[in-house]
Amino acid sequence: MAKGKNYVYYFGDRKADGKAEMKGLLGGKGANLAEMVNIKMPVPSGFTITTEVCTYYYTNKNKYPKELKAQVQSSLKKVEASMDAKFGDSKNPLLVSVRSGARASMPGMMDTILNLGLNDTTVQGLIEKTNNPRFAYDSYRRFVQMYGDVVLGLKPENKHEEDPFEVILEKKKHENGFEQDTQLTADHLKELVAEFKEAIKEKTGNEFPDDPMQQLWGAIGAVFGSWMNDRAIIYRRLNNIPAEWGTAVNVQSMVFGNMGEDSGTGVAFTRDPAAGENKFYGEYLFNAQGEDVVAGIRTPLPIAKLEEDDPKIYKELMAIRKNLEKHYKDMMDIEFTIQQGKLWMLQCRVGKRTGFAAIKMAVDMVKEKLISKEDAILRIEPNQLNQLLRPIFDMDQKRKAVDEGKLLAKGLNAGPGAASGKVALSAQDAEEMAAKGDKVILVRIETSPEDIQGMDASEGILTARGGMTSHAALVARQMGKVCVAGCGSLKINYRERTITVEGKDGVVIREGDYISIDGTTGEVIQGKLETRPSEVIQVLISKTLEAKDSDVYQTYASLMKWADKLRSMNIRTNADQPDQASNAIAFGAEGIGLCRTEHMFFGGDRIMSVRKMIVSDSVEERKKALNELLPLQREDFAGIFEAMKGYPVTIRTLDPPLHEFLPHEEKEVNELANALGISVDKLNEKIDSLHEFNPMLGFRGCRLGILYPEITEMQARAIIEAACDVAAKGMKVKPEIMIPLVGHTNEFKFQEEIVRRVAKEVMEEKGRKIKYLVGTMIELPRAALTADQIAEKAEFFSFGTNDLTQTTFGLSRDDAGKFLPLYVQNDILPNDPFEALDQAGVGQLVQMGTEKGRSTRSDLKVGICGEHGGEPSSVEFCHRTGLNYVSCSPFRVPIARLAAARAVVHEMASKKGGKKKSKKPVKKSAKKK
Ligand code: PEP
Ligand code: MG
Repeated sequence: MAKGKNYVYYFGDRKADGKAEMKGLLGGKGANLAEMVNIKMPVPSGFTITTEVCTYYYTNKNKYPKELKAQVQSSLKKVEASMDAKFGDSKNPLLVSVRSGARASMPGMMDTILNLGLNDTTVQGLIEKTNNPRFAYDSYRRFVQMYGDVVLGLKPENKHEEDPFEVILEKKKHENGFEQDTQLTADHLKELVAEFKEAIKEKTGNEFPDDPMQQLWGAIGAVFGSWMNDRAIIYRRLNNIPAEWGTAVNVQSMVFGNMGEDSGTGVAFTRDPAAGENKFYGEYLFNAQGEDVVAGIRTPLPIAKLEEDDPKIYKELMAIRKNLEKHYKDMMDIEFTIQQGKLWMLQCRVGKRTGFAAIKMAVDMVKEKLISKEDAILRIEPNQLNQLLRPIFDMDQKRKAVDEGKLLAKGLNAGPGAASGKVALSAQDAEEMAAKGDKVILVRIETSPEDIQGMDASEGILTARGGMTSHAALVARQMGKVCVAGCGSLKINYRERTITVEGKDGVVIREGDYISIDGTTGEVIQGKLETRPSEVIQVLISKTLEAKDSDVYQTYASLMKWADKLRSMNIRTNADQPDQASNAIAFGAEGIGLCRTEHMFFGGDRIMSVRKMIVSDSVEERKKALNELLPLQREDFAGIFEAMKGYPVTIRTLDPPLHEFLPHEEKEVNELANALGISVDKLNEKIDSLHEFNPMLGFRGCRLGILYPEITEMQARAIIEAACDVAAKGMKVKPEIMIPLVGHTNEFKFQEEIVRRVAKEVMEEKGRKIKYLVGTMIELPRAALTADQIAEKAEFFSFGTNDLTQTTFGLSRDDAGKFLPLYVQNDILPNDPFEALDQAGVGQLVQMGTEKGRSTRSDLKVGICGEHGGEPSSVEFCHRTGLNYVSCSPFRVPIARLAAARAVVHEMASKKGGKKKSKKPVKKSAKKK
């Protein structure tokens, strides 16, 4: 190895300088190539230039460290020795590929150059070596094209531009009356090389570089340069990949899949990446180069067919599949090439998968004893559970549509789930239509990295070309989008903005028309279809499916069982209706963390009583209106207590600014004036008097109950009466009454006294004792700062992180949408703080509030009920901060359960210095309830 810092890592000859753990330095691809060499897999030798060089390159005005040149040369020598060929040699030339390889995989984001080292001299050597001039010139013209596109910048920049090389190629085929590239002869290809070079000279003013060393450095520079191209920047932003990571460059000797019919190339996953089934999944093409499979230009064959076509290679691949899974303990994505009957592994990495497949594989691998339950839990991003909970089409509607001949076509089932929306034929259109609020299906001949924002804006993606490993399929799966790929019978006409279908005369779908795609079956259906809940939902919620009949449900249930055993935090739900409460219980909720009573005020004709209460001029009038509300609220609470089957139910007293309940339409104002027996003018005067400049900081929260104690009295009465009534039926009830927006302990005291007085009265009237708690929300910085004083009185805290974020940042919850996305786009904030808790800022208040609160009340129960309660990174923060529970919307309960379990596994790992196996975590029942 050269002296000084090591910037270049060699791999080959069954040993490598690097290994799998060195992803940060070698990038994912480089680290895994080294690892495959170390586990004795057949890998063409090469070397990796580290990510440190990329960082150096950008911090030193696009210059390399001085040691790099010598290190590259010495590694190149080793590759030459290992492959028994010489770079730039006229008789026996070594050709290499140059590829990017970041720490996290960024499919198709950066550029690749193949067949590097070819020029008019070395091509002769290649002809001699292979005795195949057509192959040699085909390799040469591909190289010139890629080099021209990638290194010399001839690649089209937008959808309206054409690739100059494709234009020349098409012209050549047209002149000769050819349909396929394969019909071109060696002479045609040789002509193309010259014509391509001429085009380069014309466009750039420079000759194409013939010197292989110059070619190599040009390619290395282009790969480092591509780290900062627009596609890569957008991809990194969407996937939270820091720019400082940089990319590595892999220079590897070429092996050829296009050396004849005993050669080929393929890509595969060791398990099905869409459904997660434990079966080898992939595609290959004989006599082709890797890019042909991935780019979706020719439609590849399913890997199972290789067993017939080449049983020896198939057997070898199956053994590699098994060894890779045993070694990496994960599903791997591989690229391979067969060169004249010999198998070579070109790449392996942990395979991208749908959330659906991630869960299935993790659960299966535990059952196969490949990984531990903790590993399985760490492997699944909690939000991936959404994919199990995703809708499917209403089967009857779908059957009807199919019977009516609306099944247009069938493609590959690349990303499961059901999506219905309006057709957009370009990514730009998809973005624009989605911004207007339309649900969109992006339909493309094939997608490319430029399309990612449009894909992100769409419900689903449909392509006419490409296989399960095409760009559309990979990216859609990663985004969790419904995707049907390679639907070859669709004829997409970008100019006319239409889709027609082979064999379906008369059918014309226009941009903006509805279509529906089923990413589980690959079907494409004309028109709009309603969607129905997933199997998990059908088992748990609609109860239209038996648990035993659903494999998906059983997988979900196993995972949830393991998560529940591990986690130490309780999971509650935010629910205001009995049906929401029952759903949440089915999803595993262990209580209600927030029941917003005001949500009940809109049902039926209650709003009239609420309005009367608000505009009343005297306490008597207000009490009269509140008396109308009392039985309704009591019924609501009773329904919730019953649905919650003895779990704790936190009910918050009235919180929102009152004007939210007042009528604004003339018709409604007239109706209310009538009902109140007052003039419209007088009512309008009253409404105007309730106007506030800043209602979120105005007359709301506990301030309402302080000025109008009769509101709190009515609500406390309704809660305790309902609790007594339900208890009288022999059911358990655990009411927790929560006072909102407290900033000073005296505010709490004032409200608590009312609640306790009324509760005592009600219990005496009913002759029944109910255990209940009175606590508060902590949603103002002052409350967190004085939490010790508040906790002297309050029996529990629930962090209202929506308001706490608003008041800590001084950012209006209602108005921030206008500028916050820009903050996130420009990395001013890492995320929207209303979505993921700002741990550094708002988090400090949560931590301080918890510690201070417990300093005066050691058994203080603490939870969170802001939207962050269902966001995985925030849930983990809550665990670390020692909260007793998080509360989130019903459909996020499974996500929170998993996130809470992951928090425990992460904690065990950090305690054990990285080792995950450890003694059992604290049991839930023993913990903070
Ligand atoms: C909060 O502020 O976090 C909260 C849960 O209350 P709301 O969203 O109703 O203001
Ligand atoms: Mg609030």
